[in-house]
Amino acid sequence: MSNTHVHHFIGGKVVESKSDKKGDVYNPATGEVQKQVGYATVGEVDSAVATAKKAAEDWRNASLAKRTSVLFAFRELVNKHKDDIAKMLTLEHGKVFSDAQGEVARGLEVVEFACGLSHLLKGDMSENASTDVDTYNMRQPMGVVAGITPFNFPAMVPMWMYPVAIACGNTFVLKPSERDPSVTNFCAELMQQSGLPDGVLNVVHGDKVAVDRLLEHQDVSAISFVGSTPIARYIYETGAKHGKRVQALGGAKNHMIVLPDADMDLAADAAVGAGFGSAGERCMAISVLVCVGIAADKLLPKIQERIAQLKVGNGLDKDSQMGPLITAAHRDKVRGYVDAGEKAGAKVVVDGRGLKVKGHENGFFLGPCLLDEVTPAMSVYTDEIFGPVLSVVRAKSYDEALALIHSHPYGNGTAIFTNDGGAARKFQHDVQVGMVGVNVPIPVPLAYYSFGGWKQSLFGDLHIYGPEGIKFYTRTKNVIARWPDPRFRGVDLGFPQNK
Ligand code: NAD
Repeated sequence: MSNTHVHHFIGGKVVESKSDKKGDVYNPATGEVQKQVGYATVGEVDSAVATAKKAAEDWRNASLAKRTSVLFAFRELVNKHKDDIAKMLTLEHGKVFSDAQGEVARGLEVVEFACGLSHLLKGDMSENASTDVDTYNMRQPMGVVAGITPFNFPAMVPMWMYPVAIACGNTFVLKPSERDPSVTNFCAELMQQSGLPDGVLNVVHGDKVAVDRLLEHQDVSAISFVGSTPIARYIYETGAKHGKRVQALGGAKNHMIVLPDADMDLAADAAVGAGFGSAGERCMAISVLVCVGIAADKLLPKIQERIAQLKVGNGLDKDSQMGPLITAAHRDKVRGYVDAGEKAGAKVVVDGRGLKVKGHENGFFLGPCLLDEVTPAMSVYTDEIFGPVLSVVRAKSYDEALALIHSHPYGNGTAIFTNDGGAARKFQHDVQVGMVGVNVPIPVPLAYYSFGGWKQSLFGDLHIYGPEGIKFYTRTKNVIARWPDPRFRGVDLGFPQNK
């Protein structure tokens, strides 16, 4: 099998796809196709699910000690290979190498969290709930669970799922993004080297055909999805229709409010970092800056200064700070939003549309764009653009700024920049958003909390990883036990009462 093709990983083996349907995997910095990935047929998905189902019989019985040792070993191997993984990410996603290293580090935090599974899976116990009767509960695995992940964090987002699911005793079928698929196979192989039994973690590559099969398969108990909102809604509705537990995390339009008393240098650093890091292809990117009162006039020149210093280039070049977008089509779509914003009356203060990167003329680059005087009616404001475009909306007051966030359909992340503790505290209480930063632009929860937005940024009841991840991947079983005592014999048709 050639290494220019990405294959499935099923039952601990690399399995070549028999499908005629294949996708190109680009190097976004050069625009060249570097690999092809075979899209799974229904039969191939069925084979992965059957393998996972078989493996679940033993894995649910694996001791907590065994599961812990696998996850500890995996943690060591990911750490050892973190730069290899980061390079793979840069080559297929395009993000700069240092950013890719950050992605691996944040994924590792979830693996470390999952290493604490013995503590996390403890149940409750009440002795003598009734006379000589004890009651207790336990958390048991769901069985086969599936994960469907987006292109923008090809290592970290799958690590939000499979380490936690596997720690809970489930087996897993992962369908990663078809645009940057190589890293998931590499990590699955590291899991195998860590002592994970074959079939506990399987990877199938593909498109809607593979996803639909997972959604309807009777042997899949739960689905974790991360991706765009229209697909998240579809996954939630279809999975639920087929009787599955579903958590489906969607898109975002994260607003950062800057009050006039904020430290403007701090706010400018944060806005540029969170707006243009990973070329804006983060669900926690700041894409709207809401400047209250005179904040805009103080802040915008500082942001412009910083953008002028940014180096856009191949993510493997040491001095690049921002890489290309994922595909040419996506780059053109993002550019189209800037055109539409300008046409609708926004002021293009920094225009990255003409950027050419020397030596990478065919790469999918777009320079940073800063648009001022954006209004809520413009598509550049309403839509998730997922590119290096920062829109500035001017608001007269804190209340007007907050109302903007509340009337937007997304509710993933948000931030406030201020030196007024009372204003910040009011904001964290008032705002209808799942993740809130106070002078922190990208408030991604630590692994021992859980990640999730509100409104159309999440469909389902539970957030991902952390304590809510443990809940999602387990079901609670309650037991009421009495050890027979000859003194309590005799038929009693009354409803049991506690005595
Ligand atoms: P996407 O929704 O296009 O794809 C996500 C996954 O769904 C992929 O595996 C893809 O193959 C599959 N898919 C795509 N179309 C499908 C269809 N019609 N039917 C069934 N499956 C389908 O998302 P993307 O472009 O890969 O990723 C970017 C999006 O993900 C952005 O909207 C971003 O905000 C979101 N995202 C959200 C979070 C979060 O935690 N909320 C995190 C990362 C990314």
